[in-house]
Amino acid sequence: MKTVLITGASRGIGAACTAAFSKAGYTVLANYRSDDKAAEALKEKTGCVLYKADVGNIDEVYALRDKIAADGHSVDVLINNAGVALFGLFQHIPSAEAEAMYRTNLFGALNCARAFLPQMVEKKDGCIINVASVWGEVGASCEVDYSTAKAAVIGFTKALAKEVGYSGVRVNCLSPGIIDTDMNANLSIEDVETIVDSIPLERLGKAEDVAAAALFLAGEGAGYITGQVLSIDGGWKG
Ligand code: NAP
Repeated sequence: MKTVLITGASRGIGAACTAAFSKAGYTVLANYRSDDKAAEALKEKTGCVLYKADVGNIDEVYALRDKIAADGHSVDVLINNAGVALFGLFQHIPSAEAEAMYRTNLFGALNCARAFLPQMVEKKDGCIINVASVWGEVGASCEVDYSTAKAAVIGFTKALAKEVGYSGVRVNCLSPGIIDTDMNANLSIEDVETIVDSIPLERLGKAEDVAAAALFLAGEGAGYITGQVLSIDGGWKG
């Protein structure tokens, strides 16, 4: 059975992916940055192997790659899921805060692909799934930097898919709408009701909805799919 590395796995969508891929028989390598307690609980629940590292830091990512290899694992599927939110008017957000967000949301995906792609190319087999966002497709007021980072992740997906398709590596992107995770804990009940009113499928997404799509993209049924953006948004476009 195959091995998947999921970044940002301690909570939310990453934790749901860990549970879904574990259930499907994958060996799951679960990365997280800081939440040891949540990560240990996930390990207990799913049997995943934990790897703590900041994916926004290329040195930590290369160390992560080396540790995974030293532990005898070879990554077949990489899910670049780690992400942070950043709300506020564009001109009010200090550059350092924006840069920290870009390091995780954009460079996290680039760093992990840079580290794990060579072994996929050598095997002539591999799958990379980047988690973007509906905001990367249509843009969001008060989330301009976040939208920009996610739009870049979509561009990265399309370009890399063209470059490495000849090497047997597929690269796709998930584009969630509003998913019920800690990332949206700032929304009031009224905000949620207003949003749900405008979602054709009349509910927020669940982390498990995104995990099911990731499982599909990683599987043989998606063997002829690359360079695509798969929306999991209940038909909502912001
Ligand atoms: P979440 O519940 O806030 O969880 C974020 C996860 O990312 C945590 O496990 C966190 O680990 C990890 N993380 C953050 N920075 C990291 C770093 N530098 N290195 C490694 N891990 C890091 O978020 P979520 O809602 O599941 O979001 C997952 C992905 O989906 C993100 O890319 C997000 O942008 C995207 N997305 C979410 C929504 C939504 O509505 N929720 C919509 C569209 C797209 P620690 O807690 O251990 O630090």
